[in-house]
Amino acid sequence: MKRILLTVGSIVLLSGCGIGENSDQSEKKNETVQEENQNSTEKQQNQTEQNHKPQEEKKGEANEDKLTLEAAYFNKIAEVDGKKVIQNPENILVLVNKEYGLPDGYAPADLVRPNVAFSFGDQDIEKSYMRKEAAMALEKMFTEAANHNLQLYAVSGYRSYERQVEVFNNEVQNVGREQAVQVVAVPGNSEHQTGLSMDISSASANSALSEQFGETPEGKWLVENAHKFGFILRYPKGKEAITGYQYESWHFRYVGVESASGIYENGLTLEEYFHVVEKI
Ligand SMILES: [Zn+2]
Repeated sequence: MKRILLTVGSIVLLSGCGIGENSDQSEKKNETVQEENQNSTEKQQNQTEQNHKPQEEKKGEANEDKLTLEAAYFNKIAEVDGKKVIQNPENILVLVNKEYGLPDGYAPADLVRPNVAFSFGDQDIEKSYMRKEAAMALEKMFTEAANHNLQLYAVSGYRSYERQVEVFNNEVQNVGREQAVQVVAVPGNSEHQTGLSMDISSASANSALSEQFGETPEGKWLVENAHKFGFILRYPKGKEAITGYQYESWHFRYVGVESASGIYENGLTLEEYFHVVEKI
């Protein structure tokens, strides 16, 4: 039997945004990672599916899957002007958050427009793009949803550094900097700049990006099935202190099937995932 306990306390500090640093999460600081039985790193998809339980039931429980990940998938960070800047931004598992940012002006080289339904129709605009691998996975996911009579809409994918500057400055003008940083990512710190994220909604939610989407059949199906296509719900409810963001029922991030499954089966966030995987 393998046991992995989460070092949640140290993750809370990662967000560095002031949200939740006084929350009860920090009391878990002294929990340590324990590994027993170093064999059997392999997981079987159907076995892990059977093991899945709702997140509420898993809190405090030891996980049974041993998660491993090649060191190349970890962020490589350099300190630039006091900011932590990611040096391997094309890493498919790149961890972008309020602490770790992308290089100024970084744009992925392989952006394509996935062949899916968009909330804004056929317009060929920046936010319809994703990196190729993510776009192909998104197409498969939307097709499978349609097979279940669920009509998903892609709403917002890639966002350039320059566009994020505009969005952020607009928000600062409207509500001031202090409030703006709570809801809009600082340029360089938006996951949308990776080309690996897509905001998704549905006709039943009027294509809105709101918590209500999470209550629709489409939103519920995505939460339970996105990992099969390599996507995770990036900002889950109850993990705000760890991700640094409010619950976003619509924001899905591509990380590949293996990592998405490990994250889903163990009720983790991407931040927590990097604390429990073992480098190989
Ligand atoms: Zn988003």
